Amino acid sequence: MIVGIDLGTTNSLVGVYDAGFVTLIADPEGVLLTPSVVHFPEAGEPLVGRAAARLRTVFPERTVYSAKRLMGASVGEADVEDLAYRVEGSKAGAARVRVDGKLYLPEEVCARILAKLKADAERALGVVVDKAVVTVPAYFNDGQRNATKRAGELAGLEVVRILNEPTAAALAYGLDKLGEHCRVAVFDLGGGTFDISILELNAGVFQVLATNGNTRLGGDDIDLRLADWIAERLGVTAPDITLTARLQELARDTKHRLSSEMEVTLAVPFLNDGRSGHCVCTRADLERLAMPLLERTRAHCLRALADAGLVQADLQEVIVVGGSTRMPLVRRFVEEVFGRCPNTTQNPDEAVAIGATLQAAILSGALHNVVLLDIIPLSLGIETFGGLMNVIIPRNTTIPFKAGEMFTNALAGQQSMLVRVLQGEREMAKDNWELGRFEIPFEPLPKGQARVGVQFEIDADGILAVLARDTRTGVERVVKLTSAVDVSDDAIEKMLEESLEHAFEDMNARVFTEARLKAEEMLPSVRVALSRVGAQLETTEVVEIERCIEAVEKAVESGAAQPLKRATFALDEATQRLATLLVQSAMKSPV
Ligand code: AMP
Repeated sequence: MIVGIDLGTTNSLVGVYDAGFVTLIADPEGVLLTPSVVHFPEAGEPLVGRAAARLRTVFPERTVYSAKRLMGASVGEADVEDLAYRVEGSKAGAARVRVDGKLYLPEEVCARILAKLKADAERALGVVVDKAVVTVPAYFNDGQRNATKRAGELAGLEVVRILNEPTAAALAYGLDKLGEHCRVAVFDLGGGTFDISILELNAGVFQVLATNGNTRLGGDDIDLRLADWIAERLGVTAPDITLTARLQELARDTKHRLSSEMEVTLAVPFLNDGRSGHCVCTRADLERLAMPLLERTRAHCLRALADAGLVQADLQEVIVVGGSTRMPLVRRFVEEVFGRCPNTTQNPDEAVAIGATLQAAILSGALHNVVLLDIIPLSLGIETFGGLMNVIIPRNTTIPFKAGEMFTNALAGQQSMLVRVLQGEREMAKDNWELGRFEIPFEPLPKGQARVGVQFEIDADGILAVLARDTRTGVERVVKLTSAVDVSDDAIEKMLEESLEHAFEDMNARVFTEARLKAEEMLPSVRVALSRVGAQLETTEVVEIERCIEAVEKAVESGAAQPLKRATFALDEATQRLATLLVQSAMKSPV
């Protein structure tokens, strides 16, 4: 079972696709959002999610939040100033969290969150969940993406795809149906981070044209300002840690209510001097406090547009993601910046998880006729010397994709090359499927001198175009083959099973074939060298070479890989002086 996971800085979500619907999975308390918080108690197992979030203000130094910000980063790079727990660098500089005497990598912390989502999903579905699509910000580099994969592995999940968050959101909004070259802006304002991404749909695949943002700007900042404002209204000075935590919770709750109500009356009992207090907070009050924070996103939006080489009018759609975009003020602001009303048809804090789940459904084959962001399920290649499979595009490569290699002639005077296009995971060409074959003619040349470039280009629909070109004459052939992606699940499974089952003998066959090709090349040249300069060798040397030749011939017949490798190696060693003599004689009397 493949689930979709939005591993957020503030909150995380898990979803599953079943019977044509995306279902987001609630925890045992019935809540969908799991705070991305892990609390390490003095004794016992860590707490994850809401239970951990409740302890954040009480035990700040043992409650880790926003670990995603540290993923794959060094202490120097990571933005750690405002974190209430300790972060230090490893010898290699990687950021690690210290709680008591123990150090944790950020991926170990995120693994705890993923493990909880996995457990919640397994409890709800009653099946083992061992694979996931996990989303990351579009700006995550390879190191950060790999750290996310490792977090999955540590949680017992194979991360079958890392998906960009804005792309996931665009999928959830159904923007893949908008048509070619359509451009969209994804405005994502969460609890602690702001991201703006400009995407373009090309041949069914979203490409990120530009991203920008601020990893320390979000709804939590609005909560802090509102909490200060409430404290002032209630006449609270120097609140203790518990009252501060209460005021912040109250501020968040008030902010949420003001997204649908115009004013909220706050009644707060037991302030730190024992009195109770009450005040009224209107939407206008909140907006006045939030506006300067929101205003900071404007420059990021304009920069992203400029980096993408676009102006507002080039966008076909603007979508909003992240819980903070529920605020009417944010929606008005987005409309003003982009000059168009944002599409708000999806739940902003669920869109990324829904997109991840749709991607999981596509990968598991539950959602058909969608090749968006697809991968090739089995390797593609051609047959080379000795009947070996030469992989040009390995399995699991995201399409569209292009790759090529140079080949040469195995025989002198050869006039054409047969290009057999193969698909499969086996080492020998004969065990893979042939998708097609064609001949490419080339000028007759000595062995190893012809140059034929073979290029595989696979488009977003999985259509494979194979091009072969004689680089000397420029003669080329292009052949289009049917979908290399559209392979039934059963066939893929069978191929993978067979490749595992025969892995050992396949590898032997490859090693043997490679050694045989080498032997077939060596034997005639050793014989030629013997006839030319053999007389200059000691008799014992000639006898040894003859013995080695015989051993190679026998090993070729035996069909065993390792003895043949050893025999060719011995022949190579025995003919070192012969080779030197041959070179010297060639230098004296150039042919
Ligand atoms: P996310 O990181 O996407 O989970 O977003 C979390 C942020 O969204 C937090 O700052 C929440 O306070 C904020 N949020 C969630 N619901 C609302 C709402 N109804 N109105 C305003 N902000 C909200």
